[in-house]
Amino acid sequence: MRRGIFLILLAIIALSILFRSLIKISPTSTKILCPSCGSDYVWTPIGTRSENFLWFCIKCHERWIKTYPITIFEEWKLRIPSMLRDLVMDFIKEHHEDARDLFPRHSTWSYRRGTLPNGDKFHEYVCEGWIIRIEYSSLSSRINLLADFSSSRISNYIGIPHRIIWKGYFINGKIREEEYLHAI
Ligand SMILES: [Zn+2]
Repeated sequence: MRRGIFLILLAIIALSILFRSLIKISPTSTKILCPSCGSDYVWTPIGTRSENFLWFCIKCHERWIKTYPITIFEEWKLRIPSMLRDLVMDFIKEHHEDARDLFPRHSTWSYRRGTLPNGDKFHEYVCEGWIIRIEYSSLSSRINLLADFSSSRISNYIGIPHRIIWKGYFINGKIREEEYLHAI
């Protein structure tokens, strides 16, 4: 009889440990992360048969095959514009040393979405003189990217006026630069 109670207690303890570990796992499992480096800068060929099947890490170039549950995949899709914004800023920081001092000191971006004259949708982020625009094209799989910085947009800005225009696009998981201009 005592042994029976002991076994029941043991089962309760085991179940509670299992339950706690499941709770711990659940928050991270809602994000699609690179299995190699853990980055959430990941890409899948959207609109093709390999969508949500072939995956690619933008940071470490790892490739893997996985089909994520639809809710997780849809959540990832919603994060694409903010991911592209961060990728543009990372690209500029990496390739244009002269722009680094003008980077926002915090990362609180205001956001708006809109429609271009040709009907294509865009997402726009604004922070400390920077405007990052992500333009989806209905005609091609490339996503046009624009970064525009003007010190004149910063209230109480003291110093030499700066203007930066960076143009590029995103295709097949890669950022490409087309134009960079830094006027002082
Ligand atoms: Zn990676």
